[in-house]
Amino acid sequence: MGIESDDLCRFCELEAETPTHLLLDSGAVVQSRMYCFNTFVLEEAELPTLRPSKIISFLGKIGLRGGL
Ligand SMILES: [Zn+2]
Repeated sequence: MGIESDDLCRFCELEAETPTHLLLDSGAVVQSRMYCFNTFVLEEAELPTLRPSKIISFLGKIGLRGGL
């Protein structure tokens, strides 16, 4: 199977750019993840516990706020 290039993460270009990829996996935004969530690694199980304001802050940090 192939991933359409348009779907690739604009930051790491390794995986599809999905919300969970950006929040959990993308190595290219690890510094922003640390800045906003105080951790380099988030587990999927933690997603429901994240404060929406933190997520918005994270999206702003990586330049996506209002850009999607
Ligand atoms: Zn990525």
